[in-house]
Amino acid sequence: MTAGVYLHIPFCKSRCSYCDFATDVWRSGDVVERYVEALCREIESEPAASAAGQFAVGDSISSNWPPAYAGGSDPNWPPAYAGGSDPNWPPAYAGGSDPNWPPAYAGGSDIDTNWPPAYAGGSDIDTIYFGGGTPSLLTPEQAGKILAKVRKRFSVANNAEITLEMNPATVTHESLVAYRSLGINRASFGVQTFDDRDLKLLARGHDSKDARTTFRMLRDAGFTNISFDLIAGLPGQTMANWMRNLDEAAALSPEHISLYLLEIHEGTPLAEQMRSGRRKAIADELAAEMYEAMLDRLAAEGYEQYEISNFSRPGFAARHNVKYWRLDPVFGFGVSAHSFDGRRRYANERDTTAYVRSIEQNGTAKVMCEDAVLASEFVFLGLRMEEGISLDEYLTRFGRDLIEELRNELADLIDKGLIEMSPSRIKLTLKGKLFSNEVFAVFV
Ligand code: SF4
Repeated sequence: MTAGVYLHIPFCKSRCSYCDFATDVWRSGDVVERYVEALCREIESEPAASAAGQFAVGDSISSNWPPAYAGGSDPNWPPAYAGGSDPNWPPAYAGGSDPNWPPAYAGGSDIDTNWPPAYAGGSDIDTIYFGGGTPSLLTPEQAGKILAKVRKRFSVANNAEITLEMNPATVTHESLVAYRSLGINRASFGVQTFDDRDLKLLARGHDSKDARTTFRMLRDAGFTNISFDLIAGLPGQTMANWMRNLDEAAALSPEHISLYLLEIHEGTPLAEQMRSGRRKAIADELAAEMYEAMLDRLAAEGYEQYEISNFSRPGFAARHNVKYWRLDPVFGFGVSAHSFDGRRRYANERDTTAYVRSIEQNGTAKVMCEDAVLASEFVFLGLRMEEGISLDEYLTRFGRDLIEELRNELADLIDKGLIEMSPSRIKLTLKGKLFSNEVFAVFV
């Protein structure tokens, strides 16, 4: 199992009317520079995902990892482990070099570099993702400095997918060429809509011409893996308007398209406009029709749906994003970044100033660490994928039979037409994709 690295860049040129992300309006080069310094320090100084010292990336044998492990046959680690070939720990362990235990364990010595899943020492990072915010506000020098720290801290695979989120009108030909020369090989491009009236409503700070121009610049600079973000269900949006958006996207032919239904977050200017009646949400039925129309249109254009909201040309699924749905480890750095080390979830400070101060003073900005609820996360994250979940994998990973566990609930979801089940897998139906929250609620 390989891990990913997420790097949060919280600055934007201005704030969009619907946004509730941890992002700050770009104030000055000094502020950004200080943030980049803090980010670099976090990457190099902190065992990733480890406020509690659980995880020590790059150390071949860490006495701090996992928490209570002290080498040898420490009876405190994990709870049921009694050293030797304790048959009770973990469930599938049968002593010796049982190849079934745990999935990634290859037997042999106590310290297997591929085990447990969270361990990323060695050469185990194959995706890096600059998210935001607007990471394309970083100069290539700043992006290069951050990447150098990542490459020093982790061993990064030669064929790693390295994504930078970009917004229209924030890059030049020169900056794009420089990003490419750093190894950044994927652009996630915040188009949102090609309708200039809607772009104004969203306060995006660019128009549709900027989007087309930036897309051509990306191609000219050698980007062969470009993703568009589009938002459906904007206030006042009609089906004809939505179809025009899909026409525009298809004409540019990116390798990947992510579609989001507009969500209204409390505290945003758009929420206030909706509350005051100046904007009206579209009907749920129309949003559902837009989703279905998009499935048909993108399929006709040769895109494969691999997740509820994500479509790609064959071979261009976002490797980094798939890690979240498959419960692979992802180590997050930067303000509000989240990490998952295979067992626990961690979150960083959400305020940029507090994050920088915390890193400068303590070298860490972790504010949350909790055990992941792995079995339910495996189900409701896995169901987001087009392929659904494997019942055998559930049994192997958690030692339980999902059908035995939730027989009545699964029957009910099948009756409602929300999931379909084969002898080996469960997946969402089209209706299930439209009402996915109703399905996921069963497994939380
Ligand atoms: S560009 Fe993205 S992160 Fe920045 S304000 Fe707009 S929606 Fe938020």
